[in-house]
Amino acid sequence: MSDLHQLSVKALADLLKSGQVSAVEVATRFLARTGGNPHNAFLDIDSEVTLAQARASDAKLADGTAGPLEGVPVAHKDVFVTRDFATTAGSKILSGYRSPFDATVVQRLRTAGMVTLGKLNCDEFAMGSANENSAYGPVQNPWDTSRVPGGSSGGSAAVVAAGLAPAATGTDTGGSIRQPASFCGITGIKPTYGRASRYGMIAYASSLDQAGPMARSAEDCALLLSAMCGPDLDRDSTSLDMPAEDFTASLNRPIEGLRIGVPLEWWGNGVQCAWFPDMPARRSEGVQVEVQIAIENALKEFEKLGAKLVPISLPRTELSIPVYYIIAPAEASSNLSRFDGVKFGHRAKDYTDLVDMYKKTRAEGFGNEVKRRIMTGAYVLSHGYYDAYYLQAQKIRRMIADDFQRAFTECDVIAGPVAPSVAWKFGENAGDPVADYLADIFTLPASLAGLPAMSVPAGFGAQGMPVGLQLIGNYFKEAQLLNAAHRLQQATDFHLRQPEGI
Ligand code: GLN
Repeated sequence: MSDLHQLSVKALADLLKSGQVSAVEVATRFLARTGGNPHNAFLDIDSEVTLAQARASDAKLADGTAGPLEGVPVAHKDVFVTRDFATTAGSKILSGYRSPFDATVVQRLRTAGMVTLGKLNCDEFAMGSANENSAYGPVQNPWDTSRVPGGSSGGSAAVVAAGLAPAATGTDTGGSIRQPASFCGITGIKPTYGRASRYGMIAYASSLDQAGPMARSAEDCALLLSAMCGPDLDRDSTSLDMPAEDFTASLNRPIEGLRIGVPLEWWGNGVQCAWFPDMPARRSEGVQVEVQIAIENALKEFEKLGAKLVPISLPRTELSIPVYYIIAPAEASSNLSRFDGVKFGHRAKDYTDLVDMYKKTRAEGFGNEVKRRIMTGAYVLSHGYYDAYYLQAQKIRRMIADDFQRAFTECDVIAGPVAPSVAWKFGENAGDPVADYLADIFTLPASLAGLPAMSVPAGFGAQGMPVGLQLIGNYFKEAQLLNAAHRLQQATDFHLRQPEGI
């Protein structure tokens, strides 16, 4: 069997269950592919640990106690703490750090039988849109190694696209699952805020952070999401008290009559919207034409499947950028205060007293983007500025969430681009953090509202780079999103395409 690395999670799980292949064989095949760390995607690999887990899975497969995903490999974004692998969150300040416990998401996937391949590169503390903010070097996009993979879960998207893992975990605070999935041509879903436990997920902006799966297809994402979610009330106070759900159960439902909302504010660029000719030419000048065409084609596919397109309005879309870039840094400035050289990771060597130790440790340990956000966060929370920035942002955040609720009275699912462009070249936005911030425009609104949202491969844009369609659902409607995405994937093959040579 020479193509194990090209198989889906579902196919691998079935082969393992039927005994046609062993967990050790699968793990060995994937470990062999990680040699030389292609695309700089991994931050830690330990074949002994992986093979020990695979042997344990084989024992379970043999004695009939196997979990639903027994023996299928997965790799974790380095934001999830793990006992058996180092955890750095892409930061120098946590270099060599080893957690005494596993994050709930890691533990749940292991309970479902998944074998851990290692830890994945990401932007430092998940702050970024291109993986260029990792202290351990950027990840390359497998479709074009001169381009970014997206961020912050860039390693997660790259390993799936490059056949280095059939699936990976990611975290999404403002788009970090959806945007790299879009840039690397894979599928990823961020569930409703509170669905997946944040316990052991290194906090960036706690009111926004969510974990989710990244894989080739909606079906694979549904399998992982079913295993990841569920209440963790004692350990995460924002965990939802909702039973775990089987998100694969409704994948094949027809989507006849599904009302798909197309936000007017997300259309533009002089391209006449095919469905709503009266729509005035609006914003979104920054959206690449090829991206719009790919999204338009995906919407046409949905129509063929019986869905109905309806115009909706998300009038505060633009405001989501300043609102997010106030709230997220504010929370980060508080969350990252724990990295002071006392309890975790790096401690500066030469210092005169405690305060000097704090200062030197943080100056040495944090990268520029993290420092920028800590300073921004401290500023917007400080006396005299709190009302003007943080409080104002919180009020607009509520309005953005209300806009979605209004929209969901007219439609079931919202569709649009994940990002205004395909993956850009390394260095293109270097030195201009605001350029990266602006590119988050379509992912931030759902994050601020806490809604489930996903990225689904929808074709190819400029220079043959992948384009992702974003689907946003109302609270707890992950099953509906995955159902729509799965139906689209049965009618198209974009999610099956791979970079050359994989
Ligand atoms: N690109 C956004 C940021 O830089 C989102 C990151 C994320 O979702 N973790 O903050």
